[in-house]
Amino acid sequence: MLGNEHGIALVDEALVAMAQRLCTVGGRHASAARLGHDEFALLAHGPSAAGEQLARKVAAALAEPLTLSEMVRPLVSSVGFAVYPDHGASTRIVRLASAAMQAVRRAGGGAFAEFEPSMAEAVVTEAALIRDLRHAVQRHQLTLYYQPKIDASSLQITAAEALLRWLHPERGMISPATFIPLAERAGLMGEIGDWVMDEALCQAARWRDLGLRMRVAINVSGCQMRGDAFVERLARGLKQHRLSAARFTCEITETVAMEDTAATQRAFARLGEIGVHMSVDDFGPGHSSLALLRRLPAAELKIDRAFVTDLAVSESARSIANAIVQMAHSLGLRVVAEGVETEAQRDVLVGLGCDELQGYLFAKPMSAQALGVWAIDESSAVPMGFRPSLFASTQAAPLA
Ligand code: C2E
Ligand code: MG
Ligand code: MG
Repeated sequence: MLGNEHGIALVDEALVAMAQRLCTVGGRHASAARLGHDEFALLAHGPSAAGEQLARKVAAALAEPLTLSEMVRPLVSSVGFAVYPDHGASTRIVRLASAAMQAVRRAGGGAFAEFEPSMAEAVVTEAALIRDLRHAVQRHQLTLYYQPKIDASSLQITAAEALLRWLHPERGMISPATFIPLAERAGLMGEIGDWVMDEALCQAARWRDLGLRMRVAINVSGCQMRGDAFVERLARGLKQHRLSAARFTCEITETVAMEDTAATQRAFARLGEIGVHMSVDDFGPGHSSLALLRRLPAAELKIDRAFVTDLAVSESARSIANAIVQMAHSLGLRVVAEGVETEAQRDVLVGLGCDELQGYLFAKPMSAQALGVWAIDESSAVPMGFRPSLFASTQAAPLA
């Protein structure tokens, strides 16, 4: 994503470079066209068997990093191809190639695929899901589950993370991993994100009124961070519910946090100004920029589950987790390990100095009501109960 002051010019430059690469690979006998914002088509004549070779060349050409504004930008593209008449009628061939492209994109991109009939079904299913999703908010089919974060030394709850669930009337519970990418592509994430925020703020106020001293966390998507309305809506909601900003966490994935767009940076600065507790989610070494991390007004860093899974059995996983904890602590960030499933993982994480733990070992995501009961049970099981001092190390403002 390159949107900022000179962002539009950069995006144009990237699109021109992509188009030139396509034309070069296609040669004189192929036609290239731009179909959508970042979608291109290449029409070439030749024997059926040449389709795969051409798709491979296109994928390789588009995978080359791009130098824009003196910065090397990695590119992830998805390539799909269909052959006429083998796969279908000439009037449908572009749509079939597009279905193959979308299958590659759903699988994470960076590859190419030939059209298969099951891909067309997936496109129909996806279109139906998007249609249903448009109505899901109004029809009260979306709900929030909450998963606690636990203080590693006192084992008390420090926070509850809101996780979206979609209870589809025919398909049952649909995972956010399935529908959030769809919502983002269909431009619905803004509306859904607003609903999540409003609902979580209400819940935080309800728990505060019940005397539960814990933060409530929401996950914030890239499109929310890029829009201007998100932070203002949050500031208004906190005020309306008389909630302390420091008791409300915004979890932003590392990938979004590292997006160096003016809009994202502006949102971070504003969130810092209003004093919201900020957390960098799914953190892992490799794609992170330490310099950028230092600039963010974040207070918390969550180690990606991928690094937690192998902790008890892999020396290198332990070294990586150790490095993340040391680095985060030296930047003054608290470290949360997510996806803790076993006692062995917990023991390693506590030994490494992790501040908070989250995972099925302690509790799966559950309804707000179930979490309320669970939290009260837990507090009675731990003689110390919920104490304001639990928050002292994160310098939270006094409870409202
Ligand atoms: P996340 O924010 O990193 O949330 C952690 C995910 O790991 C959740 O999956 C949670 O149910 C799962 N999890 C927690 N503990 C364990 C464990 O011990 N083992 C295993 N195997 N999994 C565990 P979920 O609820 O399916 O959410 C997936 C992702 O969807 C979230 O990852 C988050 O990025 C996104 N998401 C969920 N709700 C929202 C939302 O309201 N807004 C946005 N923008 N994204 C959301
Ligand atoms: Mg999260
Ligand atoms: Mg996470």
